Amino acid sequence: MKENFRKILSVGAIAALTLMFTAGCAKEPQSQQGTAQASYAIKTAEADYVAYSLAEQVLKDIAEIKMIIPPGSQPHGFEPLPKDIAEIEKAQFLFYINDRLEPWAKKLGGDKAFPLERNLPEVDPADPHVWMDFDNIQVMAENMAYYISSQYPDTEKQLLKNILNFHNEVDMVKRIYGQMLSNCEHKDIYHIGHLAFGYIAKRYGLNFKPLTGAKADAEPTPKDMAEMIKSIKENKVKYIFTEETLNPAISQAIARETGAQILYLHTIEHVTKQEFEQKMTYRQLMLKNLDSLAKGLNCKA
Ligand SMILES: [Zn+2]
Repeated sequence: MKENFRKILSVGAIAALTLMFTAGCAKEPQSQQGTAQASYAIKTAEADYVAYSLAEQVLKDIAEIKMIIPPGSQPHGFEPLPKDIAEIEKAQFLFYINDRLEPWAKKLGGDKAFPLERNLPEVDPADPHVWMDFDNIQVMAENMAYYISSQYPDTEKQLLKNILNFHNEVDMVKRIYGQMLSNCEHKDIYHIGHLAFGYIAKRYGLNFKPLTGAKADAEPTPKDMAEMIKSIKENKVKYIFTEETLNPAISQAIARETGAQILYLHTIEHVTKQEFEQKMTYRQLMLKNLDSLAKGLNCKA
C-alpha cells in the first residue's frame, strides 16, 4: 500500500490528475465552517503553524488537528508544557518540521512523531526553514499524506484530492513568484530578522542578508547592526524588511538611522492569534511576502 501511494503521487500522475481535478472543480476548496472541528477517528497533533496549516489542507475531511505551539509563540527554543504533552499523548500522529527546529518532538512523540522534512529536494543543514522552498513544501504535503495513508489506506482517495488542491495552489504561487521576481531592480534583501527566507532568496537568485542567525530570538550584536547600517547607507537602500512578530525597536532604529522604509515578511512558523483564527494559508502568506518583496526590490511583472 505504501508503494502504491507513492506511485499514485508520482510527478506524471499528479500532473494528469491535476488537470482532471481542476477541470471538474473550478471553485476554491471550502474552508471548514465555524470553529468546532468535526470529529474524526484519526487524531493528529501539529508542532507549529507550518505543519498545522498544511494539515488544514492535506488532512481536510480526514483527521482532527491540533497545534501544539500556541499562536503568538515561535518554534525556536519552544519548550512543551504538561498540557502540550497531554495533547501529544491523545494524538496518533505528531507532525513536525525537523529535529533542528523542534528537537523536543521526537523525544516526546516517539514512534508517532513524523518529520515532514524527508526526501526534500532542497535542504541546507544550517537553515531549518525548509518550507520556504515551493518544491519542498509540496513534498512535505506528500509526506504528511503518506504517513496517514500507510496506516489508514481508506483515506487515500480523499488524501489525493486534498494533495492535488494544495499542489495547484502552490504551483500558482510559484508561477507568480517566477514572473514577479525575474525582473527586479534590486537583488539584496536587507532583513532585520533571522535566517527564515534563505530558501526563497536562493530559488530566485536574490541575496538574503539577515541581521541575526538561524534562531528567531537571537540578539544582533552592535557590530552586526553597525555593518548593516553602513551597507544600507552606502547602497542607498530604500526598503528594509523585518518580521511582524519581532520586537520593532531594532528595525525602527535602523530605519531612522538610514531613512529606509520598513516592509514585512511572514515566516509562517509564527502566527498571531488573529492569523490563526483566520486560518491563513501557505498560499495567502506567501503572496503577502511577494507583495513586500516586489515593492522592496522594485520588481516589474
Ligand atoms: Zn525561524
